[in-house]
Order: sequence, then structure tokens, then C-alpha cells
Amino acid sequence: MKKRIANLSLASIDDVAERLENVRWKSDGSLTALCPAHDDHRNSLSVGVGDKGQPIFHCHSGCEYEEIVEALGASKPSTSPRRKKPDREKKKASDGMKRVGFVGPNTPDSDFKEMLGRKPDDTYRYADAQDRTVGYVVRVEGNKGKRFCQITPWRDEKGAIHWLIEDFVKPRPLYGLDELAAAEADEPVLIVEGEKAADAGQDIFPSHVVVSWHGGANATRQTDWSPL
Ligand SMILES: [Zn+2]
Repeated sequence: MKKRIANLSLASIDDVAERLENVRWKSDGSLTALCPAHDDHRNSLSVGVGDKGQPIFHCHSGCEYEEIVEALGASKPSTSPRRKKPDREKKKASDGMKRVGFVGPNTPDSDFKEMLGRKPDDTYRYADAQDRTVGYVVRVEGNKGKRFCQITPWRDEKGAIHWLIEDFVKPRPLYGLDELAAAEADEPVLIVEGEKAADAGQDIFPSHVVVSWHGGANATRQTDWSPL
């Protein structure tokens, strides 16, 4: 059993999702599912992502962490091993690399299609106050529902930039920070929930600066609001 726990602690939330039933992804990248450790009929299990990228479990019916992990270890992945490969590569990918705060204009954009295995349904660029790209949030509509990935730049030992599916450093940057920085001091600011709403809002309210944040209502504290 110990071995299973060790293996699972290295797994990503995607690996875990493949072993669960009735998975419902949330906009902040967490999910709910039927708890494998008890006879569950109403998605009692919440799975989040810890600060080291590890999956975190909570059963609202009170199952212990070890019980959930053991039940997960006993259940078989529901999809072919091919689907799991990108996650393994991703884990290795950030080993030995250093985060890059922003990239210059000559850095090619991430090849999202190669990275995600498909073209994202929406791509949102995050920029700093100098309008330099600090990363992307992409929305992917899959057979398990929609999910969001944060994609950030990293530098390898030779100095080359790589785009990885890794979260922004918290507190995360505001979406629209570049517009905010470029605005006149008396320009009104509209804060909306979600990048999609921000893009739509900017079209509807061109006289405002429209900003948003990543992760939805439960993630407001993970964003740096100080520029406002
Ligand atoms: Zn349970």
C-alpha cells in the first residue's frame, strides 16, 4: 500500500481524474467526483492541486486520505496509457528549469496544440505592466468538461525558453494589467469574473479598463490586486 501512495503523490490531478467516476472539472482546475472509498452517489470527493502540483483529496462524507488513496490505487485507469504520457513528460519538463518572469517579443508563442494534444478553445494572454507576456490561460473543452490550463515560460540550463503547463506564481497577475498600466489615471476600471467576460466587457465598455483574475470566485486571494 505504501508504494501506491508514493506513486500517487507523484501523479497529477489528470492522472487522478482518469481513475475517478463522474468527474466534474471546475474553472479553478479542481474537480469533484464520486468518492471511490465509500458508496457515493453525489460527488462527495473534492480534488484540488497543492502548491507542489500534487493532488489533494477531501471527502465530504469523511473518508480518510489513506482510504481514498488506497481506493484510487486499486482502481484501474479508464483510458489508454497513451493519454497519460504528456503528463509524465510535463513533470520531467520543469525539472532543472527556472521560471522566467516574462518573455521578450522575439520569443515564439507556445505551441498550444502540441502541448495540449489539441487546439485550445480559448487562449488568454497575460501581460505585465510593460505589456510583456508573462503567460497564458487556455480553455480546453474535453469529453470530461471544460478545463483551464496555465502556461508559463521557463528557462533551461542552456538558456532556451520552454513553455510549460505550470501555474503562475501566486499572487497571480491581473488579466488586463497591461491595459490598466497604459490607462489614464481617471479612467474607470471594471472588474469582471473570468477572462472571457473581460474580453467581452472591453468590447462593450471601451471607455473603461476591464480587468479580471484567474480561477473564479474562490481564487480572488491568489491574485495580486495591488496595481488597482
Ligand atoms: Zn468518501
